[in-house]
Amino acid sequence: MKFVFENLEKSFGTYITASKILYKGKSKYQNILLFENEKYGKVLRLDKAFQTSEYDEYMYHEPLVQPAMCSHPNPKNVLIIGGGDGGALEEALKHNCVEKITMVELDEDVVKVAKEHLTEINKNSFEDERVRLVFGDGIKFIRECNEKFDVIILDLTDPYSISTYLYTDKFYGEIKSRLNEGGVLSAHAEMPFVLDEIHVRIVKTLRTVFRHVGVFYNFVSVYGTMMGFVNCSDAINPKEISENEIDERLRERGVGDLKIYDGKMHKAYFTIPVIMRKKFDDENVDIITEKSVISAYDELNEINIEEEIKKSFNELK
Ligand code: SAM
Repeated sequence: MKFVFENLEKSFGTYITASKILYKGKSKYQNILLFENEKYGKVLRLDKAFQTSEYDEYMYHEPLVQPAMCSHPNPKNVLIIGGGDGGALEEALKHNCVEKITMVELDEDVVKVAKEHLTEINKNSFEDERVRLVFGDGIKFIRECNEKFDVIILDLTDPYSISTYLYTDKFYGEIKSRLNEGGVLSAHAEMPFVLDEIHVRIVKTLRTVFRHVGVFYNFVSVYGTMMGFVNCSDAINPKEISENEIDERLRERGVGDLKIYDGKMHKAYFTIPVIMRKKFDDENVDIITEKSVISAYDELNEINIEEEIKKSFNELK
């Protein structure tokens, strides 16, 4: 058995044991590791960050996709940027009103691994006739795209390396220009109680671009903490949609087998703790621009976790 670590921030991290390594490789963009764990099933890790697992993928993919899809009255044309494991794609395809989903994933190797090993998560969604899979950088795609979308989902790795500039005010503005009237953007907004400053900066940045920015949290077991999610729109305020309306939309669209989300959960979302609401109003926290991107991960990636743990074990024996 091996111990696979992740340092979520300088002084706090998690590990998941690996009973078997299923895939280990380095693509043009990142290290890809897929391993088996007795509780989590197959676990995907990119660089030093756990991405998703068979056991708890719904704790991330349902909140990332369902509130935004159900906040829109009739999402036909959907865009997903990132999402290489296919979990977000599978969730969006559950809506029978969807006519087309374009998925723009930078790393073809991640999709290859997902197609071969993660069908429990993506249910072979890449083969659905409504899916158009594009391999490329999300920024380039958005800048060259002349299409507009009803729902755009950003399912990206943490803001460093290849996804750094997809968390800036400029990119969020470009995303907004690709939304139809009444369109909704959904994204994760990092871990509110572990990387609070990053989480607050993402929300504050979105607030400079969209009229309505709904924030909510869902625990994601494989991350070992809560994950923040945002639903943004100029025309739709997701908080104002009733429980019955959400349940009606789920029923009408034939969306079944959800483990977390329904009308009741929708109403429970978009309410966050006082301490966070106060942080969002803190003038001293800067928004994210191309000149002030998030850099917390640089120092994180400098730490050699394995070395530090070995040293500690020896010292603490
Ligand atoms: N659930 C994960 C999380 O919360 O960190 C994200 C899942 S998904 C595996 C993240 C995907 O974003 C990866 O497959 C990665 O290759 C993709 N990605 C990162 N930067 C990108 C970019 N600039 N354009 C398109 N895809 C990108």
